Amino acid sequence: MINFEFVRTSTVKNAIAALSKTPGAQFIAGGTNLVDLMKKGVAAPKRLIDINSLPLRDITSDSKGILIGALALNSEVAEHPLIKNKLSLLAKALDAGASAQLRNMATIGGNILQRTRCSYFNDSTMPCNKREPGSGCGAKNGYHRMHAVFGASDKCIAVHPSDMCVALAALDAVVHTAGPKGERKVLFADFHRLPGDNPELDHHLQPGELITGIYVPANSFNKQHYLKIRDRASYAFALVSVAVALEVTDGIIKNAKLSMGGVAHKPWRLISTEQFLVGKAASKETFTEAAAVAMTGAVGLTHNRFKIKMGKAAVREALLQAIR
Ligand SMILES: Cc1cc2nc3c(=O)[nH]c(=O)nc-3n(C[C@H](O)[C@H](O)[C@H](O)COP(=O)(O)OP(=O)(O)OC[C@H]3O[C@@H](n4cnc5c(N)ncnc54)[C@H](O)[C@@H]3O)c2cc1C
Repeated sequence: MINFEFVRTSTVKNAIAALSKTPGAQFIAGGTNLVDLMKKGVAAPKRLIDINSLPLRDITSDSKGILIGALALNSEVAEHPLIKNKLSLLAKALDAGASAQLRNMATIGGNILQRTRCSYFNDSTMPCNKREPGSGCGAKNGYHRMHAVFGASDKCIAVHPSDMCVALAALDAVVHTAGPKGERKVLFADFHRLPGDNPELDHHLQPGELITGIYVPANSFNKQHYLKIRDRASYAFALVSVAVALEVTDGIIKNAKLSMGGVAHKPWRLISTEQFLVGKAASKETFTEAAAVAMTGAVGLTHNRFKIKMGKAAVREALLQAIR
């Protein structure tokens, strides 16, 4: 048995101080990812800091956007009238994740920082550069059906598993953090990392930092959709997913934001596709061409090559469903 210390805090200041005090300490929110990793021997924090009593659960809005507290539950956010009315893409993405029971435990901050579902990462008997730098990538020459077709490196081909993060990337959300050096705001698209030579690092959170909330700027997207393709209709991670936010006036696309899940180490923004779409008619023909742009540069391996064709079909279908 591995022993660890468990402490509860009720202020942001104390939570940050408690984390800094012990090397190897970690925050715990809903525990739906961290506890699993501890049981598998993938994570072994020396100290767990329970942050569930911090005052970070509110969802508030002003004319400029919506602020979601880091401890708001995935289910609460998906059901909140502000989110359902103004950010239906986010509500749909949250509802597509996990199961009702998990969504009732999982928090927004924890969802952002959940670790990859790569089976080599999650099995401590296997080589994995993300879990144990320098040990190799078991997936690359192993079974990699769920793995990345964009942005992978020689060291890691894992994908980020979150649905919610794909929507937040498309919505140009901003991550609010607090840490020993003060508060920061990080654009969602810049928050997670590609694996490069340091796949053990998932994101750009600084040591000792706490996510306090997510800010989603107000937008004029009148067509939004989240499409998730998976092996089962529920309780399965995405093979490929697509978040679409469009502003369409008189049949013409005025603004477009798209991102994909299940294809890269981070939510994959489709910037070239967005640029391609703006100014064009919101039509089947445009969307077919846009889907080809979206998957340009994708690189498949033996078992995940199907994702390139699937990704193309998913982008086209997500765009079509958005304007329906
Ligand atoms: C069977 C199963 C199926 C799932 N299916 C899906 C799915 O289809 N789609 C999907 O998107 N997700 C899925 N999930 C993942 C689920 O959404 C995450 O486990 C959950 O969102 C994590 O939130 P949590 O609050 O429980 O995090 P925790 O497990 O408490 O924490 C996760 C990590 O985040 C850190 N952390 C938590 N909060 C903060 C904070 N505020 N600041 C800094 N660090 C913090 C912790 O230290 C830890 O490292 C699934 C999970 C399970 C177990």
